[in-house]
Amino acid sequence: MSEAVLTLSNVGYRWPGRAGFALTVPDLAVALGESVLLLGESGSGKSTLLSLICGAILPDSGVVSIAGTEISSLSGGARDRYRAEQIGVIFQQFNLLPFGTVSDNILLPLRFAPARRKRAGVALAEATQLCATLGLPEGVGSEKASALSVGQQQRVAVARALIGHPPLIIADEPTSALDANSQAAFLDLLFAQTQTHQTSLLMVSHDPRLGERFDRVINIEDIAKIARSAS
Ligand code: ADP
Ligand code: MG
Repeated sequence: MSEAVLTLSNVGYRWPGRAGFALTVPDLAVALGESVLLLGESGSGKSTLLSLICGAILPDSGVVSIAGTEISSLSGGARDRYRAEQIGVIFQQFNLLPFGTVSDNILLPLRFAPARRKRAGVALAEATQLCATLGLPEGVGSEKASALSVGQQQRVAVARALIGHPPLIIADEPTSALDANSQAAFLDLLFAQTQTHQTSLLMVSHDPRLGERFDRVINIEDIAKIARSAS
């Protein structure tokens, strides 16, 4: 069996103060280099699951392991550093620092992740290279992130996730703001990068048409027990 980058075992979670919603994931694994598309309707808990995987929230029960380490066994600061080392995160709203430059934004995860910084080599040069590969204009590194178009900001968010080749990329509906052509181009770029570096990819979408490009497609209803009621 191939090595798993990510495993969840008997993970249970409720948002504090939201008794109506509960998510339970008995068993989920993503292998080294595997690309997985996670589908599910709005409100089914996809973003909650990604927050559990990146350690932004901790499960009430069960175990989330990234590259063999149980993330809830780490203290807050150590967990932030571990996430920065191991996971490139592309948020739905990109979460760029608006007043930072494009380069500031791309280099940000390396600040907390010395091993990833080392893999990035000359980090500013790698950031510039990523911008070029992702089709951003020359010299974009010194622009304010907020001055870019939505499509360009999305590419910056991808560069920030890819820099220093973290073993796992998680992406929350990263194509939702793009038209069909830009979506296809975006996925080409993402897959070119993940294939070169054997990166695992877990991407959330509500669009099943994207599925053919992934090694595996899962519906959250099939891997999780989801309780939803109005409260
Ligand atoms: P999806 O990403 O599949 O649309 P979410 O994980 O965002 O679903 O939401 C699942 C449930 O968790 C919803 O009931 C939502 O209201 C609740 N929820 C999501 N984020 C939070 C939060 N930060 N605080 C409280 N409840 C939340
Ligand atoms: Mg969501």
